[in-house]
Amino acid sequence: MPDAAAHLPFFYGSISRAEAEEHLKLAGMADGLFLLRQCLRSLGGYVLSLVYDLRFHHYPIERQLNGTYAIAGGKPHCGPAELCEFYSKDADGLPCPLRKPCNRPSGMEPQPGVFDSLRNSMVRDYVRQTWKLEGDALEQAVISQAPQVEKLIATTAHERMPWYHSSISREEAEHKLYSGSQHDGKFLLRPRKEQGTYALSLIYGKTVYHYLINQDKSGKYCIPEGTKFDTLWQLVEYLKLKADGLIYCLKEICPNASASIAAVTAAPTLPVHPSTPRRNDTLNSDGYTPEPACLSKSQGEKSRVLPMDTSVYESPYSDPEELKDKKLFLKRENLMIDEVELGSGNFGCVRKGVYKMRKKQIDVAIKVLKSTNEKAEKEEMMKEAQIMHQLDNPYIVRIIGVCKAEALMLVMEMAIAGPLNKFLAAKKEEVPVSNVVELMHQVAMGMKYLEEKNFVHRDLAARNVLLVNQHYAKISDFGLSKALGADDSYYTARSAGKWPLKWYAPECINYRKFSSRSDVWSYGVTMWEALTYGQKPYKKMKGPEVIKFIEEGKRMDCPPECPPDIYTLMRDCWIYKWEDRPSFSDVEQRVRIYYYSLASKAEEVSEAPQAEEATST
Ligand code: ADP
Ligand code: MG
Repeated sequence: MPDAAAHLPFFYGSISRAEAEEHLKLAGMADGLFLLRQCLRSLGGYVLSLVYDLRFHHYPIERQLNGTYAIAGGKPHCGPAELCEFYSKDADGLPCPLRKPCNRPSGMEPQPGVFDSLRNSMVRDYVRQTWKLEGDALEQAVISQAPQVEKLIATTAHERMPWYHSSISREEAEHKLYSGSQHDGKFLLRPRKEQGTYALSLIYGKTVYHYLINQDKSGKYCIPEGTKFDTLWQLVEYLKLKADGLIYCLKEICPNASASIAAVTAAPTLPVHPSTPRRNDTLNSDGYTPEPACLSKSQGEKSRVLPMDTSVYESPYSDPEELKDKKLFLKRENLMIDEVELGSGNFGCVRKGVYKMRKKQIDVAIKVLKSTNEKAEKEEMMKEAQIMHQLDNPYIVRIIGVCKAEALMLVMEMAIAGPLNKFLAAKKEEVPVSNVVELMHQVAMGMKYLEEKNFVHRDLAARNVLLVNQHYAKISDFGLSKALGADDSYYTARSAGKWPLKWYAPECINYRKFSSRSDVWSYGVTMWEALTYGQKPYKKMKGPEVIKFIEEGKRMDCPPECPPDIYTLMRDCWIYKWEDRPSFSDVEQRVRIYYYSLASKAEEVSEAPQAEEATST
């Protein structure tokens, strides 16, 4: 899982005790100065390093089985941030409360731990193999779906662990454990012949013991009668801390030379994604059979379709065969137009349809210009088409082409679940905040792409974010968009038009100047709309009242369900001077970090009852 502390400025990641002390020394050694680091011993745990009376105090924070975090003997908390918040108000056993965070120096990222880098390479390999993605499509999938993909592959992480011996017999295991040091607690883990079962071999008092590890119906691993775990590596980590029925707890790894952690670049054997047809060529030949463990794992994820599973993640022209036919103008005979209306506007309406390509037929949305429309409107639609034609990103509605027939028609990819504001208003109960943040992260990725390509959108709003499904958003409506000149950072409109003032930054209104930074302002308003589940911004205020409100330095309040970090980001999007606002590159990173931290928490919440039940058996 992404680290639940990744977004905390005083979290240093995987640094040693000596390094922690060095940082605290540099920061002045005041009483209550503290930092947080990854625990090198227990997976998912942390260490709180605190200064008091010019001395260092280090407190391990353990991740409990029910997903909460606690300092030994202290109260449990739902996350590392909440734990630190608690101890800043109440020393509760520490020599003093946490008073001053020792933040990382600017530009310093948390140090990744061994498992972090292993995890990153596994996610990338999994995405590459499962969805056959390369280049940008691969990178975007890794960034946007890491939390979900990690859940899918957690089941195979043990194969990269030094204690895992993929193909040894019981006799060979004994031989390995009896050779060299015979310390109590030296152990290894190996698969058994019966599919889906494993054995844990452990030495104690110069005798080797073998424990059977089974999987229950839901795919959880356990030693019969013992605690249940989602993954083998969690089981091992737990048994390192607690014997839990074994003759002794696991102490020393009996390493497998070939499966060392250092081998992070080797292609892992990976489970098959439930919603993707199994492709034999993605599996390694070393006998790994994914069915029982991995498919039955992640029950909650089974029904979840990832953006990469849909037909609109990559362009329909990403197939070289189809690319041969790629032209801006489409033949009318390949286009079937349905009666169903998806939406409408001044220009006319948007209809459902199907477009026939060389090898496949795709669902499309067709913007049909009213036949009564003037030349100017036709030109506008052609401009919109020209802009869209230059863009290709999973988080942007792609154009398939333009068709000139009974009317001028702009043919686009279909985003069937419709505008974000309407979707959220209708499904408030079913969409948790973490889901809203996930969608807004995707919007940020699409906008970051536009910023890099030097395009300004000029109409970013929740009504123009369309959903493919509950977990997949695309930016649409490029009717007002402009490509900036290579050396320009803004576009100046000749005159003001019918503008969405409530979404516009002050410099757009005052100087008609549009840049990626003014799109950032609109992103803030869109974020507000999303976190209020589709409410109208600035209530009943009229355009001029909104302008006055903003000029007076006022801003919209934090929506009731909005996390403070996200509201802080919104406020940064609404910084008056455009030079001082964050870029989309900053915004995307901030939303990403927050969304990853929520994704790991969501997992804890859903797992908590099960884990508690397991503890009592
Ligand atoms: P306007 O310029 O009038 O705002 P839009 O491009 O935003 O036009 O489209 C109007 C409506 O049509 C949208 O709100 C949406 O309901 C529907 N629509 C537009 N494009 C698509 C699409 N690609 N997939 C599904 N629905 C769409
Ligand atoms: Mg629109």
